[in-house]
Amino acid sequence: MVVGAGFAGLSTARELDRRGLDVVVLEGRDRVGGRSHTTTIAGVPIDLGGTFVGPSQDAVLGLAAELGCPTTPTYSRGKNLIRWRGRVRSYRSTIPKLSILELLDVSRIQWRFERLSRQVPVARPWTSPLAERLDARTLDGWLRSVHAGASTRDLMAIMSRVTWGCEPDEVSMLHAVRYVKAAGGIGPMLDVQGGAQQDHFPDGTQSIALRMAEQLGDRVRTEAVVTRIERSGDGVVVHTDAGPTSARAVVVAVPPEHRADIAFDPPLPDEHARLAEHWPLGRLSKAYAAYETPFWRADGHSGQALSDEGPVFITFDVSPADGPGVLLGFTDARTFDPLPAERRRDRALSCFVDLFGRQAATPIDYVDHCWGTEEFAPGGPTAAVPPGSWTRYGRALHTPVDGVFWAGTETADVWTGFLDGAVRSGRRAAAEVAEHLAR
Ligand SMILES: Cc1cc2nc3c(=O)[nH]c(=O)nc-3n(C[C@H](O)[C@H](O)[C@H](O)COP(=O)(O)OP(=O)(O)OC[C@H]3O[C@@H](n4cnc5c(N)ncnc54)[C@H](O)[C@@H]3O)c2cc1C
Repeated sequence: MVVGAGFAGLSTARELDRRGLDVVVLEGRDRVGGRSHTTTIAGVPIDLGGTFVGPSQDAVLGLAAELGCPTTPTYSRGKNLIRWRGRVRSYRSTIPKLSILELLDVSRIQWRFERLSRQVPVARPWTSPLAERLDARTLDGWLRSVHAGASTRDLMAIMSRVTWGCEPDEVSMLHAVRYVKAAGGIGPMLDVQGGAQQDHFPDGTQSIALRMAEQLGDRVRTEAVVTRIERSGDGVVVHTDAGPTSARAVVVAVPPEHRADIAFDPPLPDEHARLAEHWPLGRLSKAYAAYETPFWRADGHSGQALSDEGPVFITFDVSPADGPGVLLGFTDARTFDPLPAERRRDRALSCFVDLFGRQAATPIDYVDHCWGTEEFAPGGPTAAVPPGSWTRYGRALHTPVDGVFWAGTETADVWTGFLDGAVRSGRRAAAEVAEHLAR
């Protein structure tokens, strides 16, 4: 039995099936994909959640290739833009055009950050000699302690918002260092060329989940919210509104925060129960605008931009090969989500205008999505783990409890928080179940 039909749950089921084991997937939403959800703008598929994929993410790339889901490069020819301290400037590469002193400070902090990561083992970060010290402070606390300049701190805040959906004073420094290391470093995590934004899926990432679900057929059941899991000596009983189902084991493939919405009987060990309370999801939102053409390209712009003023703080060009121009803006959930729909549109478009000019004011279509306000299983992109969580509860993250196993991107040791990590976590959990059943 698997709870959750995101990339982790579906990959678990696929792997169990491949090993010849019977499996059923119970999904609370009326669709599969979880934090991967594809819709359309001006007839073009766009991703409200997980979008991009990078060259070292071979678990999800391999899966997509197996299922016949192609990728396409993210457009990155021309100049990037930065709106900083009230001025818009252009630059090339990932590091924006700042003063020499500001650039030196960015390099110094990046170097110190990556040096710390060498002492943090990704699979067992709590065993690092630095664990207690790093987990006692936030990313912001660390930046201040090493006297990071204002521009460096603002750039790190943008990284924090887009990566975890939180501010630097909310995320544990141990989590930040471990997370970036699991992605191979700051460059591989933030870059377009050679990094995690290098490519995307023209049919949307959900097409991968839909194909996995299609192959599993009626073994995937949607609108089946799991409310209770009972454990007994010889297996588990999983409860939904439709009634109980028995199984020899269950893989809970939901974000750690949402484990708390399931009642466990007998209760989970204290460390496991508390983990769910200390692994909250961040909040990130997106705005898309479609235009007759990608007009910014004619002006020599890549469509990629950074801004220290919101609500849109990062943009990408995700236009299809033929068809309209499509701009994606990541928006700051704190100021964006509380607005009514019409105001959200106005604010997002006015940010696009500030960056790309007047033509951005009149899209042919507009779509936005706020993950923090979803009714069921809200939040994303991934967990924004606060100080004290890893050192106190980290050991319980994916330690099985009597036939209950754990998957989900938050439990991955490679590309944690990404689609790739979700796939890897599902395969790991399936292997654990197979070994458990063979015993
Ligand atoms: C805005 C945004 C942008 C992102 N961008 C990228 C990107 O560009 N590249 C990238 O690699 N990743 C990106 N991600 C992250 C990526 O989407 C996630 O890492 C991945 O989808 C997580 O998969 P999962 O299976 O671990 O969890 P989920 O997708 O969250 O799946 C868990 C499933 O469990 C279900 N569920 C929860 N509770 C219950 C219950 N009690 N009973 C039954 N079902 C339940 C949920 O409905 C959900 O379907 C982004 C995410 C967001 C939100």
